[in-house]
Amino acid sequence: MLTASLLARYTDSVTVVDRDTYPEGPEPRKGVPQARHCHILWSGGARVLEELLPGTQRRLTGAGAHRIPIPAGLVSYTPFGWQHRFADEQYTLACTRPLLDHTVRHQALREPGVTVAERTEALELCGTADRVTGVRVRELDTGTVRRLDADLVVDTSGRGSAARRWLERLGVPAAEEETVDTGMVYATRVFQAPRAAPDSGPFPLVSVLADPGAGGPGRNAVLMPVEGGRWIVTLSGTRGGEPPAAEADFLGYARGAVRHPLVGDLVAALEPLTPVWRSRSTVNRRVHYDRLPRWPEGLLVLGDAATAFNPVYGHGMSAAARGVAAVERELRARGLGPGLARAAQRAVARAADDPWLLATSGDVRYPGARVTSRDPRLTDPATAAAQRRAADAMSAVATRNQEVSRAAVGLMTLSTTIAQIQTPALLAALRRGPERPAHPSPPLTSGERALLASAPA
Ligand SMILES: Cc1cc2nc3c(=O)[nH]c(=O)nc-3n(C[C@H](O)[C@H](O)[C@H](O)COP(=O)(O)OP(=O)(O)OC[C@H]3O[C@@H](n4cnc5c(N)ncnc54)[C@H](O)[C@@H]3O)c2cc1C
Repeated sequence: MLTASLLARYTDSVTVVDRDTYPEGPEPRKGVPQARHCHILWSGGARVLEELLPGTQRRLTGAGAHRIPIPAGLVSYTPFGWQHRFADEQYTLACTRPLLDHTVRHQALREPGVTVAERTEALELCGTADRVTGVRVRELDTGTVRRLDADLVVDTSGRGSAARRWLERLGVPAAEEETVDTGMVYATRVFQAPRAAPDSGPFPLVSVLADPGAGGPGRNAVLMPVEGGRWIVTLSGTRGGEPPAAEADFLGYARGAVRHPLVGDLVAALEPLTPVWRSRSTVNRRVHYDRLPRWPEGLLVLGDAATAFNPVYGHGMSAAARGVAAVERELRARGLGPGLARAAQRAVARAADDPWLLATSGDVRYPGARVTSRDPRLTDPATAAAQRRAADAMSAVATRNQEVSRAAVGLMTLSTTIAQIQTPALLAALRRGPERPAHPSPPLTSGERALLASAPA
């Protein structure tokens, strides 16, 4: 939808092809099964959304999304202890993915020239290895197969994208693929939140994070307040530490298997509104279309179709938005003319570099992680160890030093880049080390803590 609204400014006709039917309201749909799970939209992505579709944030908060300041509204148990809730300029927009999609769709489809072809499946690319000229589609209700000609085809079909195979059929050599697979499984349940005091702000985003350096499987728990007075709780565990599918065992994992029982304690007395939903779509997978010696004019591959992340870092949507912002910069510089596709595909890859490294350098540390990569930062033990030491040193100090926290939160929310944070001020702050005492217990306000009181033992 972001891509469609961007392209509408450069051409008079954009057709969105989707094999799904778009629901009228903020409902889940078959083509985005991951939408039932907690979807954190960090400020790095939210800002791009707002720039491309002004007014979206206001519509979201009007529909009940919470704008949670980060890290002031973050209660997080990190491998280095509780994160101090420093005042800062980052945030997350907390709502369900169906509300986010519905709102973005509403905004994007108002753009003149954008139309949708629902229940229409993309089958293959048309054209040659030098130039993609369209896409062959099948209308699912009639079975009719037709050709849609286009000056530019953009594949945003998600993790299941067949672009690599389609390109091979046109004679483009197979693009290199990197994967890091921790075997992570997601389990999610939605609860009716307790009624909060009328003058209190939004409840914090609560997370209990795995310690990749501890040697065992990683187990996480996240609680996010969403619209409609609900809390969405997502548990996740890497190979050997997967969360259970059974409803009866959900709370036990949240209270006993993760490193701190806070998330489980917060929901122990609450009414579950849903069954437990699970997902295994968590492999980090990157296809290096940017490294091919030749790239056809008229084709772009964006979002999960090009780079998909382990969702535990909450980076997928924001990274996809950054990819669209990268295309916008190329369009502004050179328009829809020759050379756009190759330059934009490379820019999209650069925009994914940081979130890719942040996710995969942590994930390779879990037992049983399966890695296919030529990147020495992931595969060479000495390079990986140096990388790990630097990342751990920064994360440890960030929990208790505001300057370092600002840099770490900037990266976590994809608001800044790894290159941008490397300043003399950050080095000096790292040298100063922790400036606040460690929190011995969850840093909750008295109002937030009161919600724990009703939890059964
Ligand atoms: C369990 C889980 C939790 C996640 N949590 C987060 C999170 O907290 N924060 C975050 O930022 N990201 C999260 N993500 C990642 C996020 O869901 C994706 O990064 C994001 O949806 C990618 O958007 P996309 O447009 O590339 O693809 P998708 O959103 O997957 O959309 C693909 C679209 O293509 C359509 N389609 C597919 N194939 C065809 C075809 N052949 N023809 C026509 N249409 C087709 C589908 O119907 C769908 O509409 C999570 C992912 C998972 C699996």
